[in-house]
Amino acid sequence: IEGTLSRSQYLCITIPPLIMSFSVPSDVAGGLYFLDGKRVSGEGEKTFPVYEPRSGTVVAQCPLASPSTVDAAVRAASAAHSEWGCKTELERAQVLHAAARLIRDNLEEIARAEVRCNGKPIYEARVDIASSADTLDYFAGIAPAVLQGDSMDLPGGPLTRFAYTRREPLGVVGCIGAWNYPFQTCMWKIAPALAAGNAVVYKPSPFAPASPVLLGEILTAAGLPAGVYQVVQGEGETGQALCEHPLIRKLSFTGSVATGQKVQQACASKNIKPVTLELGGKSALVIFADSEVKSTVAAAMLANFLNQGQVCTNATRVFVQRGILEEFTNELVKEANEKLVVGDPLNDNTRVGANINEGHLNRILGYVESAKKEGGTVLRGGVRVHPEGVENGFYLEPAVITGLNDDSTAVREEIFGACCLILPFDTEEEVVRRVNNTSFGLAAGVFSKNLARCHRIAAQLEAGTVFCNSYNDTEVNVPFGGYKNSGHGRENCPDTLKAYTQIKAVYVNVQDSLEHCF
Ligand code: NAD
Repeated sequence: IEGTLSRSQYLCITIPPLIMSFSVPSDVAGGLYFLDGKRVSGEGEKTFPVYEPRSGTVVAQCPLASPSTVDAAVRAASAAHSEWGCKTELERAQVLHAAARLIRDNLEEIARAEVRCNGKPIYEARVDIASSADTLDYFAGIAPAVLQGDSMDLPGGPLTRFAYTRREPLGVVGCIGAWNYPFQTCMWKIAPALAAGNAVVYKPSPFAPASPVLLGEILTAAGLPAGVYQVVQGEGETGQALCEHPLIRKLSFTGSVATGQKVQQACASKNIKPVTLELGGKSALVIFADSEVKSTVAAAMLANFLNQGQVCTNATRVFVQRGILEEFTNELVKEANEKLVVGDPLNDNTRVGANINEGHLNRILGYVESAKKEGGTVLRGGVRVHPEGVENGFYLEPAVITGLNDDSTAVREEIFGACCLILPFDTEEEVVRRVNNTSFGLAAGVFSKNLARCHRIAAQLEAGTVFCNSYNDTEVNVPFGGYKNSGHGRENCPDTLKAYTQIKAVYVNVQDSLEHCF
């Protein structure tokens, strides 16, 4: 090799990490911190209970990270960053591609762990985990091209002056996740952050704390240096400490609008850091009478009942043009009765698993009650159920509700549960106004055979994502994020990768002397 390559080429060769036959431990209860390349128990006087939603049992007590624990995790990440941030994009990509391969090789084990953490049906968890591997491959793959600098000739031409730019990592990035897609949410943040050369300190939701720890084990087995990816556990105080830490150079957050406001404020309290906010939604699906009813029913099911309705883009508001209102409603209830098998999420035929916890389940039931009080009719579901074998889990029979107006509580507020609200409309102008009449702006859908109308409406809807004749598609190369109170910044696209870097401009004078104007 030394005879054929220059010294600089020789130095660039890295030996891919040797992957032994690694298998992901399926333990979702023990050692819920990931620090300095290892799974550890963490320390702290105060603890929180970790639930398995499918059985309703407490599987662990996890210590809450104090501000000093957060400080130590951030400082270790900062030290580890100097090595990782100096690697080339291709070197980093080798590690991330290896991690993607490990995820695919261990997909079933990881999916089962995800079900135990979150309660979602195993058939959905498999999709989440597979798409998480795609996210790693995507960001590792595009990083060398997207993170290139530019070169600019300046007045006088390249022989006198020019400038160039460098895209540099930010340093240590703080990430805070929600509980509804524990593995995937973590991946959407850390894949671009790591591909861009940052270190990450991740705080999962206390309701689903284990998945990011499994990811730490995978990344380490794939060759990620110790300390580059750290996981600390806790609630608001821990999150706040991460937001305020002066060595955190960017914060990426997924959660509710109310917490997003606190996060944005905390990120400006001790120093100034950029913030990505992926927040809640109150999305709508608009169905025109010229649509094929079977497809609109499929879309309404996708828009309301995936992940027990705990999806930020869910369209609880289903606006149906009066001409097909009755047919659509009957078909939706029939389809829901036939297809929505509520049960143990580890079973292959289950289509609706457990809600995340009892408090959240009761919150959803509260919306069903408010709908009844405010004139709504529950056509199906809306009650707690106790499937055989997992009787103590947090299960809801998904609800379909009609008869509400736009001012009712369930139509205005984010439910984050399986409650589909059918709302009739007459005209295009009317429905656009009603869809936009919310402070949220995450997603919206429109169904019509008239494609000109679909595009016309897509342009008018105040939403970060619009689905035409479809709903809840997610692809890693398509930007994802909100308008209005649903947040700012995007995930899943080249802009996301750039948002984990900062641009440095370098002016160069190549002449021997510098003339001045004084
Ligand atoms: P949440 O706002 O209660 O919690 C989110 C995270 O913030 C958790 O990790 C929590 O511990 C942490 N946290 C709480 N207080 C904090 C503070 N003061 N400072 C810093 N961090 C703090 O939200 P949730 O119940 O976990 O998730 C549900 C919400 O998330 C819904 O509104 C849903 O729409 C939204 N969500 C949005 C997206 C998106 O991509 N737009 C995706 C998933 C979920």
